[in-house]
Amino acid sequence: MKLILLGPPGAGKGTQAKLLVERKSIPQLSTGDMLREAVANQTEVGKKAKAVMDAGNLVSDDIVNAIVSERLDADDCANGFILDGFPRTLEQASALEKMLADKGLQLDHVIELKVDDEALVERISGRYTCAKCGEGYHDKFKKPETDGVCDKCGSTEFKRRPDDNAETLRTRLMAYYKETSPLLGFYFAKGQLTSIDGMGEIAEISGEIDKVLES
Ligand code: AMP
Repeated sequence: MKLILLGPPGAGKGTQAKLLVERKSIPQLSTGDMLREAVANQTEVGKKAKAVMDAGNLVSDDIVNAIVSERLDADDCANGFILDGFPRTLEQASALEKMLADKGLQLDHVIELKVDDEALVERISGRYTCAKCGEGYHDKFKKPETDGVCDKCGSTEFKRRPDDNAETLRTRLMAYYKETSPLLGFYFAKGQLTSIDGMGEIAEISGEIDKVLES
């Protein structure tokens, strides 16, 4: 199963990708996570990407395409993968087509999570993750069962992304509408796009995704 999750920041791509990893046993390929790791490890890519990411702009296509191409060759991608946050430009979408063709692979589905713009700011500005296991939480929608303790691993340390603030979100949203939303037309025209309502409960949306994957 090879699929792309599309949608603006805060649409729930990461949340749904993590649940799909559990259900389908295929990896989540999040370019945002890969870039954050590169920044944390202060690699050459990380040094180039940091300021761009902090400002909410897009990292260059060349950098991101190279990261994804390399990642797709890993053994754990043999049975499929979930692309989360890639492609984000038409240039990346074309590069992906070429990468997949070169590797003899084909996409199965492109799923758009549709969310009201007004909901995005609230979703993004309240979210945080466990610093140890990465489990996602939200100030309003998903608090840990015991205050300050991760449900999954028991850690008491949490972190928030530096770019999850109202001001940077505006730049990220602008980048989405300008650079990424044309991909909806691109994949629709290719007959690969399915759009689903991303405003419901997490489990409900997972159910809708499963229906698409079974179709
Ligand atoms: P995300 O975790 O998907 O919200 O990505 C966080 C940030 O990483 C974005 O705001 C961009 O600066 C950068 N980024 C992630 N994926 C890409 C991509 N496919 N192309 C360009 N920049 C990206």
